[in-house]
Amino acid sequence: MTLVVQKFGGTSVANLERIRHVAARVARHVRAGERVCVVVSAMAGTTNQLVEWVTGIEPVHYDRAEYDTVVASGEQVTIGLLALALRREGIPARSFLGWQAGIRTDGAHSKARIVEIDPVPLRSCLEAGMVPVVAGFQGIGPDGRITTLGRGGSDTSAVAVAAALGADRCDIFTDVDGVYTSDPRVVPKARKLERITYEEMLEMASLGAKVLQTRSVALAMRYRVRLQVLSSFEDVPGTLVVDEEEMVESQIISGVTYSRDEAKVSVLRVQDRPGVAAALFGPLAEAHINVDMIVQSVSRDGRYANITFTVSRADLARTVEILERVRDQLGFERVDADPDVVKVSVVGVGMRSHAGVAHRMFRTLAERGINIQAISTSEIKISVLIAEEYAELALRALHAAYGLDRS
Ligand code: ADP
Ligand code: ASP
Ligand code: MG
Repeated sequence: MTLVVQKFGGTSVANLERIRHVAARVARHVRAGERVCVVVSAMAGTTNQLVEWVTGIEPVHYDRAEYDTVVASGEQVTIGLLALALRREGIPARSFLGWQAGIRTDGAHSKARIVEIDPVPLRSCLEAGMVPVVAGFQGIGPDGRITTLGRGGSDTSAVAVAAALGADRCDIFTDVDGVYTSDPRVVPKARKLERITYEEMLEMASLGAKVLQTRSVALAMRYRVRLQVLSSFEDVPGTLVVDEEEMVESQIISGVTYSRDEAKVSVLRVQDRPGVAAALFGPLAEAHINVDMIVQSVSRDGRYANITFTVSRADLARTVEILERVRDQLGFERVDADPDVVKVSVVGVGMRSHAGVAHRMFRTLAERGINIQAISTSEIKISVLIAEEYAELALRALHAAYGLDRS
């Protein structure tokens, strides 16, 4: 008997009508003879509201464990409602909170990682002929407290459950009908991809394509989970995430992404001597702040440097605070913070064997008068940091320049 994990995102369970619709879809699969384990998100908008409540009480230095206690609650509502809706459909079902489903994580509250899933509770439920409905986005930490997996984390819950149960497929149902060459809400000419490699999907997700949480793709790649992105509203084929060997045809560039979750920090007139970068980035690492793009420019006399880097917007206030603390010790002039930037990236495995990809990107942006503030590259992607006001223009121009536009 085929076993599938089906995950439904926030818009797919946004109200009672949609929850009934999801129940009917799950029921069809069960009646067709598949065993189904469901993972759900909170109703669309709920998690944002919960986060706002937390930061309304304590804007920056909130206790992450209490944050998790609050923001994990949205999923508790949808699992119960969906289990009830399934029973109305005549399908025996029961809800599972993360801890009840044996989802154990590390203790990094608000961005925890799944360490292990005890498959017994879900397996017993399936063997009893019932559909388990599991709360996505949450688990239990080593201290016995509720943890959450970072925004968009239900995708990761679904893939991890699929791996733990040895499922034949993990279907991610969402409000678009697959993975597109760019965010279809921003680039109207974006095309749906029939297939995409794990590697490309991993880059696209980590560079801003929030259709899948990055960690979910990494897990799928590692545990060879067959992953598919589909529409929960329409019955049309979605996008399959596959190995490179399974690609029928490959493009040089498979996608153009953007991330608004960027903020630029410039540390001005730092003395240019060995150890400065270590002294600057050490305290940030200790505070678990991830630094992404880094650019250093040295003054003409070689005595001073300006160091520019990016962090996640949520970490900007803390970053500036930490740097101000070490300012006297390091002797720099000042710290500038700019949250109005975006990172735009082009991704494709074809880049490995083709020259001129970067040049085309820089030329396309130059022709639109868009200034590049930082650059970073890997084997299969090029990212640039630009002013936020140009995000959509840059995305559409690049999409056209690499021949990705739908005709
Ligand atoms: P869910 O609530 O189902 O998890 P998300 O909002 O997290 O849904 O993810 C789906 C959204 O991802 C789409 O509505 C779309 O705007 C956005 N998105 C960004 N990049 C892409 C892409 N390359 N392909 C498809 N969707 C994308
Ligand atoms: N509800 C959580 C969020 O909004 C998890 C998810 O939707 O995947 O981030
Ligand atoms: Mg999501």
